Parts: sequence; structure tokens; C-alpha cells
Amino acid sequence: MRQPNLRGHLAVLALLITPLTSAQGVQLADAVTPEGVRTHMAAFQRIADEHNGTRAAATPGYAASARYVERTLQRAGYRVRFQPFTITFSKTLAETGRTVRDGSIDLSPVVMEGSLNTPASGLQARLTVPTDPLGCAPEDFAGARGTVVVVERGVCTFGVKSQNAAQAGARAVLVYNSAAEPATEAFSGSLGDAPVTETVPTAGLTRAVGAQLLEQLERGVVRVALDLRVSREQRQTANVIAESSASTSPVVMVGAHLDSVPEGPGINDNGSGSALVLELALELAQTGDVGRVRFAFWGAEELGLLGSEHYVSELSPAELGSIRAYLNFDMVSSPNAAPFVYGDPALTALFRETFAAQNLTLLPDSIGGASDHAPFEAAGVPVAGLFSGASGTKSPSEARSYGGRAGSAYDSCYHQACDTLTGTATPTAERYLDLMADAAADALQSLLRSELAVR
Ligand SMILES: [Zn+2]
Repeated sequence: MRQPNLRGHLAVLALLITPLTSAQGVQLADAVTPEGVRTHMAAFQRIADEHNGTRAAATPGYAASARYVERTLQRAGYRVRFQPFTITFSKTLAETGRTVRDGSIDLSPVVMEGSLNTPASGLQARLTVPTDPLGCAPEDFAGARGTVVVVERGVCTFGVKSQNAAQAGARAVLVYNSAAEPATEAFSGSLGDAPVTETVPTAGLTRAVGAQLLEQLERGVVRVALDLRVSREQRQTANVIAESSASTSPVVMVGAHLDSVPEGPGINDNGSGSALVLELALELAQTGDVGRVRFAFWGAEELGLLGSEHYVSELSPAELGSIRAYLNFDMVSSPNAAPFVYGDPALTALFRETFAAQNLTLLPDSIGGASDHAPFEAAGVPVAGLFSGASGTKSPSEARSYGGRAGSAYDSCYHQACDTLTGTATPTAERYLDLMADAAADALQSLLRSELAVR
């Protein structure tokens, strides 16, 4: 039923693939069940519950998640290693702002990555606007000395805006979201490569708050109180890598990031992908094909793909060349899921077969460099992945084709405290978790039976 049916430029691949219904043994997709996957998601939820509600990189909740993966894989006979690397661990100490007058406005500022701190007691200053609202030229900040400058997002980097303000003697910069973005959407930016000593404390505001401030400024003097402070320290975290002790070369790699964001337990993002990869490993251990697969559970993806980047950067050219494909699973149980796919056409064709059998077409996704496949892809390894959707909105036509609610986010709890086990237990989430688990298992088994040839 799930037999590949590849045509045209994929003809070579079709020849290499033994039909899945051959006598070569069990169907991996039958062994990998959504119940099995959800067992591990439940374990990640318990771990988060026991560790301040989060499994973020370099926290006790992450370490416990890594130990759970290690233990589970060791019991199945895998050789498991931790690959440590160092990250900058930041913790927000203060992130408040308001206008100082009757009926003051809560600014809800979001401190930018790389921002300097305000003094420990916060700061109070008059608010100004640059002569050009974008603040991309130093001369736009004439008259900004000693003030907090409110600037529009866009055209130049946040780093340039902050440097221009610093040069003019301003005390802080508040960047409001551009007109292209929803009025009440907050955003978190980064000062990038701007030399920190040449900047001032910088935070983002929604466009709605920006508009309120500009309106108040037209009526007179506005003073703001800001307290923006982040502590940063170097901490160690680790990737978890598992192989059979009978591992051979070349291999297919299957991976998922194991860390959550600090704000929540991360059961969809990415407890679901981690649980799927774990269950694939456990079931594959029963089939004997295990020597040609390497499983990876990445650390610090949420801080910028740090674990997978570290892993790829440590590979020799020969080691890199021995990785014939990398399959990535980052969110496969979104509450209002839709089936997205990305990556190499020959690899994504392997996923499509499973969905085609259910008369479902996978949605091409422009996830770009947004997950751990990116460092592999940049190093020339064919990659592919499945994704059940994040903060984007499901369209009416998608709801007709795939079920779920039109006009709602695929995952309305994305990167929030409500990304929990119960939140990922909707009928839509369970349906796509089941399908994605089957598709992942089928793709992996096809690759193994085709001697890992993808083109
Ligand atoms: Zn993720």
C-alpha cells in the first residue's frame, strides 16, 4: 500500500528501492505507532513539570531530557555519546517599561539579543524621535542626547540604529514594529555584530505601542521609565548522538532538536520530533538495519541551531561525505496541524508516498534555514523534513483539505508555556503525528533498502 511510485527524474531512485511489501521483514511504519511516540512526549512533559516547566538548553530540564534519551536508547542496545559544546546562557532579570504620567502606557518592551543593560535601578528619561523615523543615519539623532529614542523598524539593522543613538548620546532605543507586521505583534531582535560598547540598551515594541507613544509625543513631553537587564554566562550543553555498536559507513542521519524555549515545556516544539526520532530508533533496533543509521538529538537549536552547527563543524570531509542523507523532524504534533514538507526532491518524494496513500498532498514549506537540517544542507548533504506548522495561520482551503480550524494558528501555543502534552492531544494533532510517523518510518526504511542512494 505504501509502495513508492516514483516517475520521471526519480526513475533511478525507483529502481534502487525494493518495494516495502517485500519479504524483507517488518514494516517499520507498522511498528512505529503514535502511542509509542506519545509515551516519550509524556516523559518530556513529566521532565518539564519536575524542572520549572522548561527543557531549554543548559537548564536542568534539558539535562534530564538528554538522560532520558540516553537511558532509553542504551536499553535498546545503542551506543550513546554526549557531544558537549559551550553556549552563552542568558536570563532576563528585568524587562519593563512604561510612560511616566497619569494613565501611563505599559510598553511591554522585548530586550534585544546583545543589548546592554540599563542601570540596576532602571532609568527614566524624556522620549524623542529621530528626524527620520527609521534612524538609519547618525544625523537623524540630533537632539537625542540624554533621551530614550523611539525608532521605526526597517531599512537598516537594529545594531545600526542603536549605534547611531549611542553616538548622539542617547540613553536607550525602543524600536517599534514596521507597518508590514500585525499591530499587536511583539518581536525579538538582535543587535548582531554591532560592537556592544558602541550601542545603548535596545528593545522592541509592538507597532500599536509605538503609535501610542508617537501620539503622546505630538501632545507634549513624554517621559519613560525603562528597566532592561539580562545576565549572560557561558554554560555547557550537549548533543546526544546514538549509533549501533555494529555501525558501518555510510549512514543516514535522523535528527530532532531536544531543547525547548525557556518559556515552556516544548512538547510540540520539539518534544514531538524528539519523541518520533526516539521511537524510530527503538523500533529500528528490532529490524537489524540499525548499523546504517545515526540518530541525533540536538541541543540549543532554539538559540540558533547551535548544536547541529557544532556537530557539522566538527566533521572531517570524509565523515561528512559518509552522511548520505539527513532527515529532520521539528514539530510533528501541532494542535491545528497541516502537513508541510521541505528539502531535497528525491528525499521528500519518500515522504509523499505515505500521504498520497491517504489522498493527501504535502504542502511545500519555505522553512529555509529555520531548523537543524540547515547546517547539513549548507555542507552539501541531501536533507528533508516534515513539519506540522507553527505560528502561521491555517487558510480556509487548507482547513478543507486537511481538517482543523481555518483562521487559527497551526500551533497557537508555539514557544509558549501552553505547548503541553494536553495541548498536543487534539484529533488533528494526533492524525498528523500518526501520518508523519508513518512517513518518517517509510522514508527511512526505503533509504536503507536502497543502500542509502538518494540520486
Ligand atoms: Zn523547533
